[in-house]
Amino acid sequence: MVSEKMKPFMANNSAIRAMFEEGKRMADIYGKENVYDFSLGNPNVPVPQVNEAIRAIIDSEEFNTVHGYMSNAGFEDVRQTIAESLNARFGTNFSQKNLLMTVGAASGLNVILKSILNPGDEVIVFAPYFVEYNGYVRNYDGTVVVVSPDTETFMPKLDEFEKKITAKTKAVIINNPNNPTGVVYGEDTIRALAAVMEKKQKEFGTQIVLISDEPYRELAYGGAEVPFITKYYGNSVVCYSYSKSLSVPGERIGYLVIPDEIDDCDDLINAATIANRVLGCVNAPSLMQKVIKYCIEHEVTVNLEAYEKNRNLLYSALKEYGFTCAKPEGAFYMFVKSPEEDEKRFCETAKKHHVLVVPGSSFACPGYVRIAYCVSYEQIERSLPAFKAIAQEYGLCR
Ligand code: PLP
Repeated sequence: MVSEKMKPFMANNSAIRAMFEEGKRMADIYGKENVYDFSLGNPNVPVPQVNEAIRAIIDSEEFNTVHGYMSNAGFEDVRQTIAESLNARFGTNFSQKNLLMTVGAASGLNVILKSILNPGDEVIVFAPYFVEYNGYVRNYDGTVVVVSPDTETFMPKLDEFEKKITAKTKAVIINNPNNPTGVVYGEDTIRALAAVMEKKQKEFGTQIVLISDEPYRELAYGGAEVPFITKYYGNSVVCYSYSKSLSVPGERIGYLVIPDEIDDCDDLINAATIANRVLGCVNAPSLMQKVIKYCIEHEVTVNLEAYEKNRNLLYSALKEYGFTCAKPEGAFYMFVKSPEEDEKRFCETAKKHHVLVVPGSSFACPGYVRIAYCVSYEQIERSLPAFKAIAQEYGLCR
């Protein structure tokens, strides 16, 4: 019954989800407070104004407006509000026409890939990366080309990147701030990436789209700047989601920005709007679109301090215990080197101490583990003796 195209997806079903299920099983046995589940990137900091917005909208808007169909691209007033907010923050010049409301970043990526990929086209990604990209690219018969990780800095390896761009390269996906490393690509990195892509577009006479997947844009610490890519490279598309910045991943709301500077802009916007429909999303959830407008107008943001406090506590403890990890500047992940580069043993040892983490091979970077610190500060405090015990088992500390 199951299609041939679907079978590889089933074979590679997510290790992250498997670990999450394991966490639930262990919590039933040992008690929730005795299991330290760092497996899933599920935001834990509530944004109560979202609920206020829902109540205010339900009380004030017409039933058929807030629950009805609208343009496949989304409500014009919502898109215009987002466009103006981006313009004010980044000095861009968008209008509602450049915005397409999506069912989260996952759907935004599918919409743009469906709009641009022909079978056999190549999409370049930088390891470690969010491996759902593999499935999204495969949906449209594209091929993922992986640039190997720079495990010192986790910044893109530009030499290898340049070599891997071919006449078949149609898109490059970056994710900034990054899941799973927490690094932020700064302005110099974005400029360097853009320069390589400009050069290769000219050399091959092709169009290569830079897709910036940005669900963690607002989660950047200590003043780290996340460059807005449309200012650095013409053929770029921003894929944004409110899943993490408003802690609403279950609500499925985000947007694509398709700037005027992109080649064949009007055609691409039209294609993406139709892709949104034919993929079956039809339009992004209407109530949540209105919530986004409310949140922008009321300057609602997540309490970043909570994540930053978690990062500081966990990072300094892990360093003290002898673990190796690039200090994350954004998102809510730490990518820690497995002692002996054996992630499988690390995950098993961690599990023995009731700590659940995700192996780096789930991000095409074996030898590491990802710790998602979007949990309560108390959970991190309680988990520290377990992390210390893991380090002691490896002889990293006494
Ligand atoms: N891209 C990255 C890098 C992510 O980490 C995630 C979710 O964790 C997504 C995309 C999907 O986000 P959304 O829930 O908005 O679809």
